[in-house]
Amino acid sequence: MDIFEYRKDFPILDQEVNGNPLVYFDTSATSQTPVQVIQAMSEYYEGYNSNVHRGVHTLGTKATEAYEATRMKTRQFINAKRFGEIVFTRGTTAAINLVARSFGDMMVESGDEIIVTEMEHHANLVPWQELAKRTGAKLVFIPLEDDGTIKIDSVKNVVTDKTKIVAITHVSNVLGTINDIKEIARIAHENDAYIVVDGAQAVPHLAVDVQDLNVDFYAFSAHKMLGPTGIGVLYGKMEHLKKMEPVEYGGDMIDFVEKETSTWTEVPVKFEAGTPMIAEAIGLSAAIDYITEVGLENISAYEDKLTKYAMEKMRNIEGIEIYGPETRAGLVTFNLDGVHPHDLSTVLDSDGIAVRAGHHCAQPLMRLLGVSSTARASFYFYNSTEEIDRFIEGLKRAKEFFN
Ligand code: PLP
Repeated sequence: MDIFEYRKDFPILDQEVNGNPLVYFDTSATSQTPVQVIQAMSEYYEGYNSNVHRGVHTLGTKATEAYEATRMKTRQFINAKRFGEIVFTRGTTAAINLVARSFGDMMVESGDEIIVTEMEHHANLVPWQELAKRTGAKLVFIPLEDDGTIKIDSVKNVVTDKTKIVAITHVSNVLGTINDIKEIARIAHENDAYIVVDGAQAVPHLAVDVQDLNVDFYAFSAHKMLGPTGIGVLYGKMEHLKKMEPVEYGGDMIDFVEKETSTWTEVPVKFEAGTPMIAEAIGLSAAIDYITEVGLENISAYEDKLTKYAMEKMRNIEGIEIYGPETRAGLVTFNLDGVHPHDLSTVLDSDGIAVRAGHHCAQPLMRLLGVSSTARASFYFYNSTEEIDRFIEGLKRAKEFFN
């Protein structure tokens, strides 16, 4: 991987922050955007900005074609069977809320169980808590091992004939744990349950094949995979999407509207009420092209190398605690003894190094780890080992400063 060639496509990385070259280690929160994505979006605004699925004029037709072409490309990217199985949403959060509201309300009854884990991002926990409250269902947690992994036997123990939905993350945004979704889906289906997967941290970094995983629903966000904010994807099996009610109503999603009542158009547009995220879809399309060109296998292998390099060097710093398993995605969540993560992040920022500090939208997990917050460095293929060296130096300086 010639990362220095790729970096030329990311002008934002070529800047100084607080008098130092920027080191961007916060891709898990949001990734940076290559010029190809920015260009695709400005070409739309400069050349064919128009609403979709409405007019028959040339610009409108071009915009509709580009928007629907993104659906086709996304289908291929995650190997969905049909392009109608790709629903555009505002992001992962909106996608999971849509499933919980529509599919959840239809399927879940009092006494049923919804299975989650303590490593879930709030986006894949709170919608299920609310569904449980609405229906009288119970939330059941798959226990985590000390290293932040899940044992398949634990899944087998909690998934029973009472289970209706298993809602689980593919990759943890805190621990980096990569869950065995294929096997968990098999166990869910064996118990006549459905599986909903939060793929926000997986799709940007691993090749995902929704048919091979055999998941019922899979959600992800464009802004974590080189695309713009404001758009995400809900994949759902067509048999489910067809039965589901929309959760938003208005333009585009209708078939016939009478004074007192209305009917809905086909999947997936029945879930996309109002003017959708057109420029953002066009940006997502360019992002998929870019990732495909770099190659997800190359991305995973390179991130693995970076992560191992970082962990090895971090472990040499006395008083550092790293959370999560050895085999992990490209992020390291940690605490440095005697230094509050926010202070650490501020000191690193003064060196131009951007890391995340806080609870990472995973408060139950923080409680399980016995901390209120942590720091997290997360990597992508545009990062280098030289940047990790600077990060390590920054950690050492912070430690000296606060101790
Ligand atoms: N799930 C995970 C694992 C995440 O890391 C995130 C974002 O940090 C989300 C869900 C929410 O994504 P979004 O804010 O794009 O809806």
